Amino acid sequence: MSGAVAVVVAAGRGTRLGGAVPKAFVPIDGRPLVERSVEALLACPEVAAAVVVVAPEEIGGTRARAAGALPGVSAVVAGGSTRLLSSLAGVEAAVGAEVVLVHDAARPFVRVATIAAVLDAVRRHGAAVPVIPVPDTVKQDDGRGFVAGTLDRASLRLAQTPQGARRALLLDALRKAAADGIDVTDEAQALERAGFPVAAVAGDPGNVKITTPRDRDEAERRISGEAHDLLRIGHGYDIHRFGGGRPLILGGVLFDGEPGLSGHSDADVVLHAAMDAVLGAAGLPDIGHRFPPGDPRFAGASSSVLAREVVAEVTFRGCAVVNLDLTLLAERPRIGPRVEAMRSAVAACFGIPAARVGLKATTHEGLGALGRGEGIACHAIALLRWRRDAS
Ligand code: MG
Repeated sequence: MSGAVAVVVAAGRGTRLGGAVPKAFVPIDGRPLVERSVEALLACPEVAAAVVVVAPEEIGGTRARAAGALPGVSAVVAGGSTRLLSSLAGVEAAVGAEVVLVHDAARPFVRVATIAAVLDAVRRHGAAVPVIPVPDTVKQDDGRGFVAGTLDRASLRLAQTPQGARRALLLDALRKAAADGIDVTDEAQALERAGFPVAAVAGDPGNVKITTPRDRDEAERRISGEAHDLLRIGHGYDIHRFGGGRPLILGGVLFDGEPGLSGHSDADVVLHAAMDAVLGAAGLPDIGHRFPPGDPRFAGASSSVLAREVVAEVTFRGCAVVNLDLTLLAERPRIGPRVEAMRSAVAACFGIPAARVGLKATTHEGLGALGRGEGIACHAIALLRWRRDAS
């Protein structure tokens, strides 16, 4: 199902969460709820783009412009006075989408598994809603402070988002509800009214809606806790002796006229240490396993190319390099004049800004083999961050 587009409804004017700031834009651990929700939806590979629906007075403002600048956001459109009209505006703007997923901006914890389950059910049944069982016994109020009865909770379900449907079905259902003047409170209700079957798929108790200041505080704790859970650190070390008649390459930069290092590939001790740090943080075997010395494919190989292969591997496994810190141990050459070039070259190999590469050098104070200038060594530390769903 190519062409699923997420419609993130952020048009509520409620300011209960954050003073003058509308709910969807209240920051949670420094980032607005709507941004977190958009990112969570786009983490599903089947979701091609997101449309963000904001209150009309937000259009052109700083908050709406920031939402529009998020990677993957194809449009920011004005919502209406009700959930139904806002949802309709978003689905109308998802032009060309075969399937739409309408999601509350206030549900930043939605997982890829839930999104994928909804899309799968849409593919088979046309429309789907994620639901969870009702954990508590449900009473009906008689309006006078007494219990009118007890509902059978076995058949009751709480509806979550994203709610998905073939776009044509949902447009039809929402337009009918709007024409009838019925204010449905979710997309499934409009589909039910229009007579379209809506599949109920397993939701996720963790996919909570942030509604009260207490919810926000809990979300803050959860996100900052998860942020730490999702970080992994790795260490790498490499050493090569001088010799072999090869040019000296350190951190992807050629040191013309300097004696080179011997080794099977280009002997770039800096990139080798950095690759091992990244692989170590990902829990993967080191470069000796990955690019075995003696394998003719890697004879004289450019370590810049190998580093990009390592990055592709960890990216495939769902993590991204956050930063690298490198310490070179060498009596020669002096790297001072080339440090910025090396940082840029290393950064390019690992797909991060140069500002996230630390690089310094020290001599070995004349001690041992390194002190006698027999070779060059490098220590590296890498930090990796996992996608929430991949760890
Ligand atoms: Mg090496």
